[in-house]
This record gives sequence, C-alpha cells and structure tokens, in this order.
Amino acid sequence: MQKIYGTSLNTGIFIGNALHIALPEPAIETGNIRQEEIPKEISRLQSSLSIVEEDINLELKTSNLQAQDAEIISAQREILRDPEIYNQIETAIRNKLQYATQAVSECFANIIKHFETMKIETFAVRAADYRDVAMRLLNALSGVRNTLKIKIEPNQIPVFIEIVPSLVSKLAQEGIKAYLVAKGSYNSHSSILCRALGLVAIANIPDLNVAVKNNDLLIVDGYTGLLIVNPDDQTLEYYRKKAEAERHRQEKLKQLKITDSITANGINIELFTNIGVPEELEVIKNLSCAGIGLFRTEFLYLGRQNLPDEEEQFAVYKELAEKMKPLPVTIRTFDLGGDKLSPLGYETPEENPYLGNRGIRFSLSQPDIFYTQVRAILRASAFGKVQIMFPMIIDTQDFIEAKKFVQNCQRELSQHSISFDPEIALGAMIEIPSAALCSEELAKECDFFSIGTNDLVQYTLAADRNNEMVAKYYIQHHPAVLCLIKKTIISAEKYHIPLSVCGEMASNYKYIPLLIGLGIRELSVNPGSFFSAKAIVQKCDAKLFKATEEINCSTPLSEVENLINNILAPYYQDKEE
Ligand code: PEP
Ligand code: MG
Repeated sequence: MQKIYGTSLNTGIFIGNALHIALPEPAIETGNIRQEEIPKEISRLQSSLSIVEEDINLELKTSNLQAQDAEIISAQREILRDPEIYNQIETAIRNKLQYATQAVSECFANIIKHFETMKIETFAVRAADYRDVAMRLLNALSGVRNTLKIKIEPNQIPVFIEIVPSLVSKLAQEGIKAYLVAKGSYNSHSSILCRALGLVAIANIPDLNVAVKNNDLLIVDGYTGLLIVNPDDQTLEYYRKKAEAERHRQEKLKQLKITDSITANGINIELFTNIGVPEELEVIKNLSCAGIGLFRTEFLYLGRQNLPDEEEQFAVYKELAEKMKPLPVTIRTFDLGGDKLSPLGYETPEENPYLGNRGIRFSLSQPDIFYTQVRAILRASAFGKVQIMFPMIIDTQDFIEAKKFVQNCQRELSQHSISFDPEIALGAMIEIPSAALCSEELAKECDFFSIGTNDLVQYTLAADRNNEMVAKYYIQHHPAVLCLIKKTIISAEKYHIPLSVCGEMASNYKYIPLLIGLGIRELSVNPGSFFSAKAIVQKCDAKLFKATEEINCSTPLSEVENLINNILAPYYQDKEE
C-alpha cells in the first residue's frame, strides 16, 4: 500500500482500477511539399478544421454541460476560427512549403510558448486551450478523430500525464467517475469542468507514472487529495464504508432543506451561497438559501479571450436577479489580477500581482471596463434585489471613489430614462487588513460588508494563498485574523450594517462554530457545503458562545487551536471529512 498526496480538484471518494492513458502523438510530417501540392495541403487543412469544428459542435450538443462550462469548449471553436491563426498556417504552407501538420504544429507552438513565458496562471490556462485545439487539429490531419482510443470501463480510473478540457468532458460522457493527472492545477479550465461535471479527481501527483501501474487498485480521496495505491484490506474496507456513509449523509442532509438555519439557542444565522458561474443557480435553487452572497463575476471571462460586453453581462445579471427574486444577489465587480483571470492585453505582468493592480484598483484604472460592468449591474437591478460589492477595498476613500463611479453611472442611466434600483446596496469586501482596521470609518459609507477570508489571511500573514511552500504560514484561525474579523464585526454592529463571511472559512466545517461564536450572523458558503453548514448552525448553542467569548488579539494560537480541535469539535465533528 502506498499513499500519495496531490491537489484535489473535487470532493468525493472513488475506488477503482488504474488505467494509464497515453494520448496518441499525431505524426508531424517534415520536409517540403512540392509547389503543385499546395492546394491539396490547404484543402487538407480546411477539411480538418471542419472536422474539429463538427466534433466540438457534437460535443456541445451531447455533453449536457451548463452554458458557462460549455463556453470553455466553444472558446476552442473561436480559436479554430481565428483568421490570424489560419493566415499564419496557410502562409507557412504556401511560402515555406510546409506540410499542414508542420505548419499547424509550429504556429500553435509559438502561441503556446508566448503564453507560457508569461508565467501567470491565467496565461497557462490559455496555453492549455491552444494546446488542446492544436492536438485536435493534428489528430484530424493525421486521421485520428477521437483522442480516447481505448475503451474505459466505469470502474476504471484513467491516469494521465496532462489533461485537456475536451478530454474531461469526454470522460464524463463515457460515464467515468474519477481520474488522476500528474500535472495541473485547481484553477485550470479542465479542473473547473471536472467540478462542473461532478468527477472526482486529483492532480499534481509526483511520480504518478512510476507509483501507479495498470490495474493497481486505487482509492481516490477527493476530500483530502490523497491517492492510495493497492490499499490493504483494512484501508479498503474503511474507504468503502466512508464512501457509503457519505452517500447516506448527502441524502440525509437534503432533508434539512425545509428546516431553518437557527442555532439551538435561537439565533438566526442567514446562509447564503457563493457562485462562480451563473449555471450554479440550478444547484442552489434546491437549497433554500437566503440569497447569493458572492457572485465572482470574473468567471464570466472564463474560456474566452475578451470580457463580455454590456448586453451579455446584463443578460447574465438580469437572469440571476429574476430567478433569485426577492432574495438578494450580491454581484462582486471584476476581481481581476493576482491569480485571477486577466483580460489579455489589459494587464502587463507585474512583479507582485497580489500587491498590484488587482480588484477595485484594476476596475478604477480601466474605467471603460468598469463602466460597462456597473451599467450592466445597475440595469439588472431593476429586475430583482441586486447588490454591488467591491473587491480589494483598502479604506473609506477607496470605497468612496468606487461609490462615486456607480453614482455617475446612475445619473447617466436616469438621464436616458433607463430603469435601475436607486436603492441598490453598495458594499465592500473586507479582505485587506487595512479595511478591517479602518472598518469603523468604512462602515459609515457602506451598506454592507463581506469578509473575504481567503485574501484576508494571506495579506495578514504575508503567506501566498496558492504557494504550497508557505502553506504552513497560511493559518486561517490565526489570532491576528480573528482579531480583524472581530474588529469588523464590532464596526458593522455599531453602524447596523449586515456583515457576512464569504471566504472559504465560511464553508469549512471546522470554522463555522468559531465564526458564529465570534459574532458572525451571515455566512456565504459554497453550494456543496450548504447543508452541512446548516446542520452545524443548528447544533450551535449557548455553551459555544460561552467558549468563544474570550477570544481576542492576545489569545495564543495554541489556545485557539485547542478550542477548535477539542472544545468546538462536537459541533462539527460528524460533518468533517
Ligand atoms: C476571499 O478573498 O475570501 C474571497 C471570497 O474572494 P476570492 O477568493 O475570490 O479572492
Ligand atoms: Mg478575495
């Protein structure tokens, strides 16, 4: 038995047998064609383009993907149709007398290299899309249409060196439930598709090819990112039971739909949900949540090369507002920069992107982009209860600048008699320590606050949220972080403005009792954690409030850890994976 940790791409447990999949390397013809062969090579290129486009269309029709996720695949169609790429390939065939395969391979290799040298995750994501299209095109040119030549049985776990989005959707179509991949990251398009399609997967597994042989029995534990190779009987039995218990637990939790999220001692805790793509509405409509506490709009950019225009954004925001009505939809303006998706051509690579032109700073520095988004949100506000939230606010002045921008847009809409909600609430994310420290002043200007613990932790402890090397410094329950949360709670209470926590801490079972004990009354959680969060809320009681009332900035970390791991454990223990 061997245990290896990787990066979990989605929760869940799957047990099955390994099957290594080596994707066929399409043949690239070298040498020169003859002048008279040019038309034949160009028509070969054109028919391959049509074949790939046909494949993509078919995939989109049959994959059952939600629209936003399907965009990842339809973005590949855009790459295929890119006239500049076509011209480059055709010119190489005509002028350099290259075979179509070589012309395609060189053209895409240059584009991919360009993205990869930028060393920014967003560009790496784009590179993967181009690599996928190149592979499809080269396969079509070599007469290989389906990259998955081998039949995978539903009890098998395919193992890849690298995976591309089209392959993830193909796996789901074939009824595969889990996969492993040696490379990859949580935020790649393939990983997002993996979650959207409900596959269990682990990426970033060192020496995967050596550690796992064909037919090895594998346990993929998506809760912890643990891969167990050839488990002993005891471990296998444990995981079989755990998978079964998880199935039961999910069924049971669904029954909580009709109960309220009230603590055992009668305190109402509003439970909202976070969404990344509008199609998650389908999932959250079954949750009976209090509204959407965070819609991360930057994901609208996913799978495309430009930002959506006002009409497109308006359509998305309006649909959310209408479907959630009368519940609130908190639309966070683009949080671009940092590790987030960056619109090509707008941003120059920065030395320290997390401390750079990110979030509201980016929006204010690109008024055209911000204007388009704010107008779209304001127009949508006429169709439901929409709230606007600004990311990466540092202080009151920062917030006022953003607020004025919105007010100018409101004036303009009024002049053109375009409807919007004049009472629309404007709020700030509290995710930079300065915003928490200045929260009393800030609360006078804001209609609401939402604490983004993901960034608040990284900025408070100077520990990059995505860097494994400093993961041990990224301590979400650090007293310094709790102190900032407490400070924000006091400020929000003083000025009677709603305050929620929308960072991952709110979805983490271990931290929910702690946050409630500190005084948080609104949580915005990931849809997958919703029912578990509700069950924990219902368990919280007077004893919990007593146990947490003493926490302050000078509480030692070890004491906080003892509190979470021992004293508060009964509140979350059976929810923990
Ligand atoms: C946060 O920082 O906690 C947050 C919710 O925003 P994001 O994770 O999108 O940066
Ligand atoms: Mg954030």
